[in-house]
Amino acid sequence: MRVMKVFCPECGSAANIRKTNRKDVHLSDLYCQCSDVECSHSFVLNVTFSHTISPSAKTGNGLVRSLLNLIQPKDRQMALDLLQGRV
Ligand SMILES: [Zn+2]
Repeated sequence: MRVMKVFCPECGSAANIRKTNRKDVHLSDLYCQCSDVECSHSFVLNVTFSHTISPSAKTGNGLVRSLLNLIQPKDRQMALDLLQGRV
C-alpha cells in the first residue's frame, strides 16, 4: 500500500501530517509540518475527493439489489433469462 507523501511548499523537504480534520466525506484539511528543523514550516493542505475509478463493492451490491427489487415478480424470470443469454 502506498502512503501519501507531503512535501513542504517552502523548501521541498518531506513534511509530516500532524492532524486530519475531516470536514466532509469528500473534504479533509491536513495539518502538516516540514520535517526540516531549520524550516519547520507548518501549513494546511485541502484534500478533496475527485472521482471513482472502480465502484465500491458495497454500494455496487446495494445498487443491483435495489434495481432487482424494482422488477415486477412476473418479469423476474425474463430478467434472469436475459442475464443468462437465453433470450
Ligand atoms: Zn520546509
